[in-house]
Amino acid sequence: MTLNSKIPQGPLKDKWTTYKDKINLVNPANKRLIDIIVVGTGLAGGSASATLAELGYNVKAFCFQDSPRRAHSIAAQGGINAAKNYQGDGDSVYRLFYDTVKGGDYRSREANVHRLAEVSVNIIDQCVAQGVPFARDYGGLLDNRSFGGVLVSRTFYAKGQTGQQLLLGAYSAMNRQIARGKIKMYNRHEMLDVVIVDGKARGIIARNLVTGEIQRHSAHAVVIASGGYGNAFYLSTYAMGSNVTAAWKAHKRGAYFANPCFTQIHPTCMPVSGDHQSKLTLMSESLRNDGRIWVPAKLEDAQAIRDGKLKPTQIKEEDRDYYLERRYPAFGNLVPRDVASRAAKERCDAGFGVNQTGEAVYLDFAHAIVRYGKEQALVKGLDTNDSALVEKLGKQIIKAKYGNLFQMYEKIMDENPYETPMMIYPAVHYTMGGVWVDYNLMTTVPGLYAAGEANFSDHGANRLGASALMQGLADGYFVLPYTIGDYLSDDIRTGPISTDTPEFEEAENNVRGRIEKLVNNNGSYSVDYFHKKLGKIMWNKCGMSRNEKGLKEAIEEIAQLREEFWKDVYVPGEANEYNEELAKAGRVADFLELGELFAKDALHREESCGGHFREEYQTEDGEAKRRKEFQYVSAWEYKGEPKDAVLHKEELVYDNIEVKERSYK
Ligand SMILES: Cc1cc2nc3c(=O)[nH]c(=O)nc-3n(C[C@H](O)[C@H](O)[C@H](O)COP(=O)(O)OP(=O)(O)OC[C@H]3O[C@@H](n4cnc5c(N)ncnc54)[C@H](O)[C@@H]3O)c2cc1C
Repeated sequence: MTLNSKIPQGPLKDKWTTYKDKINLVNPANKRLIDIIVVGTGLAGGSASATLAELGYNVKAFCFQDSPRRAHSIAAQGGINAAKNYQGDGDSVYRLFYDTVKGGDYRSREANVHRLAEVSVNIIDQCVAQGVPFARDYGGLLDNRSFGGVLVSRTFYAKGQTGQQLLLGAYSAMNRQIARGKIKMYNRHEMLDVVIVDGKARGIIARNLVTGEIQRHSAHAVVIASGGYGNAFYLSTYAMGSNVTAAWKAHKRGAYFANPCFTQIHPTCMPVSGDHQSKLTLMSESLRNDGRIWVPAKLEDAQAIRDGKLKPTQIKEEDRDYYLERRYPAFGNLVPRDVASRAAKERCDAGFGVNQTGEAVYLDFAHAIVRYGKEQALVKGLDTNDSALVEKLGKQIIKAKYGNLFQMYEKIMDENPYETPMMIYPAVHYTMGGVWVDYNLMTTVPGLYAAGEANFSDHGANRLGASALMQGLADGYFVLPYTIGDYLSDDIRTGPISTDTPEFEEAENNVRGRIEKLVNNNGSYSVDYFHKKLGKIMWNKCGMSRNEKGLKEAIEEIAQLREEFWKDVYVPGEANEYNEELAKAGRVADFLELGELFAKDALHREESCGGHFREEYQTEDGEAKRRKEFQYVSAWEYKGEPKDAVLHKEELVYDNIEVKERSYK
């Protein structure tokens, strides 16, 4: 099949508007005759469900948590971007578009990214109207801060709880529709297969996670908004339940999987503390607005710190290496995440790491405390030379800006970050790869859509901070509601889709067979045993930097681990009951397939770009070296086993942006 991204003709800035003007519509009375399934009610699926129902469609929404309010989106801390230019600092739709394409290392689609930048401004208005309590400045206007990879302040935020507040907005919009009967909500239901009838997505098979009941659900179109798959690495900043299952089932039913190896490794996470850990915690990128990142400049100081003989506060200014400010003076601590992560790894690999394992750097607020403290003392007419007073006032400002993040750090690390620098290290955080979609967000299966982190998105090889919430809400509130109508306008006379067909029968049997195999396997090892092993392979061989030898080994090791899993996994309990281990087993089984495709994709991409760093392709000073031959989206077609997957290429054309060296210096 040839990939057709269906990008509209015409000048970039007019594409979306002109396209919307000409798109097929479904009249309000006919929308009542059409059912849409939305799998996932995080920010992408929640906003899509609410908007589609508001438009008049009958929506069936699914999530595996007990409420949409508990989607992984709730964890988002730092903010959401929009080209409002409220700060008057030179921002514009074009600049957001440009920053995003450059940030993604020229591996994203121009037309999609421009549309994203255009609708970013509507998202803020929509959310404010819903009552999302974005931070405001002294005069009552919406406030902004900066995130990595940009030179303006365009990030809107609600303290360190932006995702939670946005999700409450989407959730209340959903609830209005649930009350009207336009959304039927299936909490604690897990989609385990997509049903294709006559080449079109016409339903799903879901398991009620409380009773174990297997159910058939039909619709005229299916939207996958099931989030990202970073938990393939076992340790990550994702919610424990985040998984690839829905996206992977879509892939196995014909949806191509794009750029599986493009993973974001976030530079500011709490470091790994040992083998017992099952979760990593993010310290928001917003902290890089004020925190300065450093390691000791001398190896002996780093060693003394690791041995507990020296404290960071005892290291003199001239003996510190603010390595991001040194290497990237223009962007400093606000370089994009991939750049900051690799720089931290480089320093730690060279022996400058500051925790017991040697895998941590400092994020230090001492300067910011003094800076803010002096400003406050000036404003209040107090003595700016009174260092105790300055420190007290400065800490108050830091607390107001980042209080909940500091509290979280102290609770987990048992250290007071107001007094001593935080320790941070990169961790898996986001997946730019996902289900391939065209401009309409439709996958290669007609009627099957993907939104939010589940699709391969607009972020190319690296996502800029605060852009995931923007994309998820753009997809759900402003893109899908238009584009899905274009497809559904052909379905107004179809009538209800029956679930009593051979296709539903086959899919249901497929799901039942797999569940039975898992519960009856009676092996000797837990699901976590295999998941941890997979995570180690992924982190060591497909992680922050990769090479040909390691990737080849990873492909073999993952295939072997998958075989062992199916021979020797032990899933306690029954199929027809609440059984978390069973749910987890299904998800890990899918990670074991995805992991191999991930490594295969990374191996074939003989270049470094953004979150994909191949050691063989780097500049003399260790920067990523892109190659023109790889200026495409890799879209993989399922052919039975990950090793047999077939590569399709969507060539990326840059008519409006000059592709050049990606420099943040
Ligand atoms: C700690 C943290 C902080 C972050 N901070 C920011 C930030 O400040 N700014 C920013 O832009 N981005 C941030 N991100 C990224 C951002 O939060 C996510 O990319 C985004 O929220 C994903 O939204 P989503 O709706 O696509 O998926 P999710 O929120 O992951 O929702 C997935 C939904 O799918 C459902 N689901 C999954 N599988 C199935 C299945 N098989 N059957 C039924 N339902 C299923 C789940 O129940 C859930 O409802 C952060 C991420 C993390 C981890």
